[in-house]
Amino acid sequence: MTDYLVRIITKSGTVRALACVTTGLVSEACRRHGTWPTASAALGRALTGGALMGAMLKTGQRVALKFEGNGPLKKIIVEAESSGAVCGCVGVPEVHLPVKEGKLDVGGALGRAGFLSVTKDLGLKEPYKGMVQLYTGEIAEDLALYLAESEQIPSAVGLGVFVEPDNSIAAAGGFLIQSLPPQDEEAVERLMEHIGKMPPITELLRRGNTPEQLLELLFAGIPYDILEKRALAFHCSCSREKIERVLISLGKADLAGMIEKEGSAAVTCEFCREVYHFSRSELERLLGEIN
Ligand SMILES: [Zn+2]
Repeated sequence: MTDYLVRIITKSGTVRALACVTTGLVSEACRRHGTWPTASAALGRALTGGALMGAMLKTGQRVALKFEGNGPLKKIIVEAESSGAVCGCVGVPEVHLPVKEGKLDVGGALGRAGFLSVTKDLGLKEPYKGMVQLYTGEIAEDLALYLAESEQIPSAVGLGVFVEPDNSIAAAGGFLIQSLPPQDEEAVERLMEHIGKMPPITELLRRGNTPEQLLELLFAGIPYDILEKRALAFHCSCSREKIERVLISLGKADLAGMIEKEGSAAVTCEFCREVYHFSRSELERLLGEIN
């Protein structure tokens, strides 16, 4: 199953929701960063949360999530675009902790003391910025707290990543539900009940359930319309041109020093681990572009 997301709204217009499967893009990100299981689960949950947040934006807008905690993982950074492109990295990929209550200990890896900051590029002069303290460090609860506190929208978030003993990603996905004014108490109560009774997302996905089926389970008895289905993919916004601009920004002296000392350059993008190689003649051309 390829990665995609489904967006719905209830017929009453008071609850909107998104559900997605992200197994492919999470696998790709974990492979590129060489994450160990607990780090894979943390990165996968954050990427899935980013994909859900990105899908609520308008065309051309972007969102960046930065989780910083006092645990060994140090941080998780995710960038998502409205187009469905998602990318991200962790501070320390080689983190694996003992399993806690049958689950990978993401909260222990990130740490429970720290911050989640959200930056949205909405195409305005200044980006929108919001920040909350980490709640559990388990990612889903932290995002729900951010949405409720900083954006003032009561939200429920569920994120799941199943990592196999061989460190491959068997399933990843999630959902995001938001209550819109005027709050429909009855629907919210019913949704909370369904969330409480629902088997773990990864179990449902491993059984072959689709995002549509996750929503059917969550919204059983609540009529809704499917608004959109969109593809999701691991995609970084880096490019050779962007890396060239970074090299140029080093300035004449530093770039000349690099050419003299190294002869060539290999620059790795921290988000996707793509390596860009520059030969001596290419570096000399860039040097010539600096006034
Ligand atoms: Zn990149």
